[in-house]
Amino acid sequence: MEIALGVHSLGQRRGGRVHAFLLDDGHDLTVIDTLFDTDGARILSAISRLGHTPRDLKQIVLTHGHRSHLGGLAALKRLTGATVSAHGWEADIIAGECKAQPVTWVLTRPVRTWWPTYPFQLGVNLGFGKHPACPIDRAITDGDAIGPLQVIHAPGHSPGHLAFYWPERRALFAGDAIVTWPTVAPGWPAFNLNPTQHRASLNRLAGLDVSVIGVGHGEPIVQGAAEQLQTLARAAAGS
Ligand SMILES: [Zn+2]
Ligand SMILES: [Zn+2]
Repeated sequence: MEIALGVHSLGQRRGGRVHAFLLDDGHDLTVIDTLFDTDGARILSAISRLGHTPRDLKQIVLTHGHRSHLGGLAALKRLTGATVSAHGWEADIIAGECKAQPVTWVLTRPVRTWWPTYPFQLGVNLGFGKHPACPIDRAITDGDAIGPLQVIHAPGHSPGHLAFYWPERRALFAGDAIVTWPTVAPGWPAFNLNPTQHRASLNRLAGLDVSVIGVGHGEPIVQGAAEQLQTLARAAAGS
């Protein structure tokens, strides 16, 4: 699904309705995150549907080091030769040298809303089903530019969590700072490692001029994105 010019949303049911974004800036292709499956096939077939070859993928940028977003990384790196970039604080997890930080074991209330995310709490705490490890090529941080994107350090969900902004498209890629599955929220509450940082990150993202928001879990926000972003920042501030 093309949610803005050259912004293609790719999702799958596994990994918590995880989403990745394939960007075509008219020159090169960039992908944000790599979905859950370890073969990268959904992303490769999207590249070919756009009339491109795997070698046209120049950048793989990662929002953070959680399993759902890293599945296809090693395969895509091998098949495309793209440069892999992430925040340096997530690099050891992505490279398979250590586990992601544990989260609470407690089930978030209301339970009827949040129970679908509980397997991911168990998964991150127990280290289930590791992703195929892949070292990053480049450590990026706030203020860097990569492909068409501005890099925004948006910690809270994890220390090196990044958001990305494509100003010409007014497109924000919020990673797991915002979710629309199982409900629209400023992230999965149980995964909010540092609530103070998370609030500050949401507040900062709310200052951007947006028309679409790609999120880590659930469908992108394509209607009333600016208003929803303000509402989510207020919700984070009140939580
Ligand atoms: Zn995450
Ligand atoms: Zn996630």
